[in-house]
Amino acid sequence: LFQLSVPLNFLGSVYRELRQSLLDMETLFNLQKVNVAVKDKPDAKPLLLSSGEIKFENVTFGYRPDRPILKNLTVTIPAGKKIAVVGPSGCGKSTILRLLFRYYDVQEGRILVDGQDIRDVSLESLRKAIGVVPQDTPLFNSSIRHNIHYGNLEASQDEVYSAAKKAHIHETIERFPDGYDTMVGERGMMISGGEKQRLAVSRLILKDPPLLFFDEATSALDTHTEQALLSHINSILKEKKRTSVFIAHRLRTIYDCDVIIVLRAGQVAESGTHEQLIDRGGLYSELWSAQETLFSDNGEQVVGEDTMVTEETK
Ligand code: ATP
Repeated sequence: LFQLSVPLNFLGSVYRELRQSLLDMETLFNLQKVNVAVKDKPDAKPLLLSSGEIKFENVTFGYRPDRPILKNLTVTIPAGKKIAVVGPSGCGKSTILRLLFRYYDVQEGRILVDGQDIRDVSLESLRKAIGVVPQDTPLFNSSIRHNIHYGNLEASQDEVYSAAKKAHIHETIERFPDGYDTMVGERGMMISGGEKQRLAVSRLILKDPPLLFFDEATSALDTHTEQALLSHINSILKEKKRTSVFIAHRLRTIYDCDVIIVLRAGQVAESGTHEQLIDRGGLYSELWSAQETLFSDNGEQVVGEDTMVTEETK
């Protein structure tokens, strides 16, 4: 009996682990509302990453084909650079990230990563290459530890702690009732939006993907914590020469990017560095001056986002 129960136990634990990871994928997919209509081609190959260049070539896309959000968009995101996508609310910034992750396929044109059309590569290899800190981070009904560890299940516990430290959340976690074993998610402890964002950054640091996307990733943090976290993210990006895309309303968080792409009505209105765009005196410089006047002397934003220009109000 003993001889039989050992392998059965072993199989049981493998089964439980497999089931847990499948459940996690399901949770993540449900939480991120993934369109399951997008599937691998039968001959899909793994994505071969070299430098990490991303290209949108004449991309047209709408959630409903009769209402295009991106219109014949052509953009190059150079390898190893830090790019920002800014523009009025609803102009399609997050849509660009969803297309890159292949939650949806483009209606016209193509998206290339290191020269490969993303529809030709396997979804698994594409998504493995990308790390996202989304606007609202999905949390699993599990411990804080697992929520960070999920970024890379092969990482050691020390690496989990180190990632949390880099994301400026380690000390906060240690103050939680059960530390890293505190349960979060729907049935667990409520944590703040800023804590969730820092957990997402820890998860990303642990995953260490070649392509990194930040979608309003630090918007729930106070200015001080945001600056500290951004400077840490910047040093990681620089050291590893990662390609990264930042989406942000608060231009102060992205003005140091190598290229700033300003979208309007699904097309590139203008692009360049902060200085070039300010000199140009176009939409970016308008948004910049509007936001600067919203800041009080101590650098805190004093008026909310309701003063934002939106696609509808234009
Ligand atoms: P914000 O700055 O407000 O986050 P955004 O520029 O990131 O906006 P997107 O989220 O890309 O804008 O959305 C672009 C447009 O597409 C919006 O009009 C939005 O309402 C619409 N949209 C977004 N997601 C969907 C969806 N799943 N189905 C239908 N329409 C959608």
